[in-house]
Amino acid sequence: MPLDLVPTLSDLIAIPSVNPMGRDVEGPEYLEYRVTDYLEKLFQNHGFRYKRYVVSPKRDNILIRVDGDLTPPEKGGPLVLLEAHQDTVPVEGMTIDPWTPTVRDGRIYGRGSCDIKGGMTAMLGAMARLREEQPRNRPTVVLACVVNEEFGFTGATDLTKLWAAGAKPDDLVPKRPDVCVVAEPTSLDVVVAHKGTMRWRIHTHGRASHSSQPHLGDNAVYKMARVLLALEQYAKEVCPTLGSHPLVGKATLSVGLIRGGISVNTVPDRSTIEICRRVLPGEKAADARQKVIDWLSAREELQPILGAVEHEPAFISGFSLSDEKNGALAARLGEVSQRITGRGKRIGVPYGTDASRIAAADVPSVVFGPGSIDQAHTCDEWLPLDELPQAAEVLYEFCRSWS
Ligand SMILES: [Zn+2]
Repeated sequence: MPLDLVPTLSDLIAIPSVNPMGRDVEGPEYLEYRVTDYLEKLFQNHGFRYKRYVVSPKRDNILIRVDGDLTPPEKGGPLVLLEAHQDTVPVEGMTIDPWTPTVRDGRIYGRGSCDIKGGMTAMLGAMARLREEQPRNRPTVVLACVVNEEFGFTGATDLTKLWAAGAKPDDLVPKRPDVCVVAEPTSLDVVVAHKGTMRWRIHTHGRASHSSQPHLGDNAVYKMARVLLALEQYAKEVCPTLGSHPLVGKATLSVGLIRGGISVNTVPDRSTIEICRRVLPGEKAADARQKVIDWLSAREELQPILGAVEHEPAFISGFSLSDEKNGALAARLGEVSQRITGRGKRIGVPYGTDASRIAAADVPSVVFGPGSIDQAHTCDEWLPLDELPQAAEVLYEFCRSWS
C-alpha cells in the first residue's frame, strides 16, 4: 500500500509531541507517546515489521524494517539505517495554531512540519515504496523513529545500544548498520559535519550579610564578575586559536545566563552562570571544558578567588559530527539528490543532530531532509510542499540499491 505523504504529515502535525526541554511541565501536548501510537497503527495497517523500545516513561523509540533481497544483515549483509525524531520544540509564542496543519501557497504550516515530521514522512514514504515495489539488489533498511532529540539525545543514544559491544543481537537491528541517514531540514543538501555542544554551570561562593554591613559578607557576584571578564577574554583570544573546520568554522564560547543574589539589601553568597562551548568536529567535548577550567585556574588575577569557583559537571554534552568517515555515503546520497532535485551539496551546519550520536557508535552518518533550518523552531513553522515528495524519492532511490 503506498503512503500518501501530505495526509500522513498532516496527521503527524495534528498530534502534539512537544519536548518538555527539561522543564517541570505537564499537559497532554508533552512527550512523544501519541505520535508513537499513531506510527504503530500506521505500521500495522501497512503490514510493516515493527518494534517499540521503551526509552523512558511515555517515550518509546519505534523501528520498522524492510528486508532486502541481498544477504540479510543477520548473515553479515548490508543494513541501512534511516532515523528521524518524534519530538518537537515547544509552541509558546507561535503565531499560528501549532496543531492545525494548514496548506497554503505551496507550504504546509504547523509545529513539526519542518523539524522534523516532514522529514519523517519522507522516510515513511520511502519505506512504504521499498516494501511495495521490492526492487532487486536492495539492502535491508530499518527506519528508527526516536524520542528526545531536542533535549538530551536519549532516543538516539538508546538506539545505538542495539549494536554496542556485548549487546544481544536485536531482531530488527542484528548488527551495526553500515550507514545512517538522519532526518533534519537540510533543504535537500547533505550535511556531513556539525559542531558539538558542551554546556555547564559555574558557581562562585561567598558569604551573605546585610547590605548595610557589606564588610561582614563576601560578595559572590563580584567574584563572578572577575570570572566573566576572564571568560570574555577566552572567547575572544583563545577560541580562535583552537583550530577551525572548513565547513563549520571556529570553536566558540558564550555565557548565556547569569544569576546571583536574592535582594538588593543582601550581599549575595552565590552566583551562577551557564556557559556554552561549541566544539569542533574531531574535538572532544570533555577536553574542551577542561581546557577552559585549566586556563581559568592559571590566571594570575583569579588566584585569590579560585577556591570559591566551582565547575558543575556538564548538563549537556552533544557530540560533533565529523566528515572524516562519511565521504562515500555523502557522495552517493548527494549524487542521488543532485539527479532528482538539483540539490545535494555537501555542507556543514552550526546546529547539533542525532547523527553525531550514531556516528560516535561507529556508523558513517549524514543528515538529509526537506525544508530549511531557517523555518525550524519558528513561530510560523512551515515546510515547502514540493520538497516532501522530492525527499521521499531521493531516499527511495538511495535505499533501493547498494554499492
Ligand atoms: Zn530536528
